[in-house]
Amino acid sequence: MIKYQLRCDGDHEFEGWFRNSADFDIQAADGTLSCPACGSAKIGKAIMAPAVASSEAKAQRVSDMRRAIAEAAARARAYVERNFDYVGDRFPEEARKIHYGESNPRGIYGEASGAEVKALIEEGVEVAPLPGAAKADAKTTASSPAAPGAAAAKKTLN
Ligand SMILES: [Zn+2]
Repeated sequence: MIKYQLRCDGDHEFEGWFRNSADFDIQAADGTLSCPACGSAKIGKAIMAPAVASSEAKAQRVSDMRRAIAEAAARARAYVERNFDYVGDRFPEEARKIHYGESNPRGIYGEASGAEVKALIEEGVEVAPLPGAAKADAKTTASSPAAPGAAAAKKTLN
C-alpha cells in the first residue's frame, strides 16, 4: 500500500491509499477518485516539499556519519599498526598469554580464523574488530581486562 497526499482543483488536500502507483493513475483517470470536501474528480498528487527537503537532509547526515566513521576507523587502525606488536599466526596464543598474565602486557595484532576468535571470546579475552580493514582482511582487536591498556588485534580469515 502507498499513501499519497492528494489535492483537488479546489486546493483541498487529503490522503489516499493505493495498492501501488498504477492504482492511483487508474482511479484518477476513471473518475473514481473524488475530493471528500467538494466532490471534484480533478485530483492530483500534492507536492510535499518539506518531506523532500527532510529526506535530502537525512541523506546528507547519513553521508556525513559514514565519512566520520571511516575517518575514525582509519585513525584507529593506524594507531594499532603503529603501537601494537604484529604477532602473525601466533595471535591466539599470545592473546591468551597476555590475558592470563603469562606474557608482557602489550598490544598485539595478527592473524587467526573466525573459530579462533570465537574461542578467545568464550574464554573471556576481549576481542573486537579492528576497524577500517577491508572485509576480506578484517582484523580484530582484543584487550585483557587484567592488564588495562594491553590490546591485541587479529585478522580473521573467514
Ligand atoms: Zn476539493
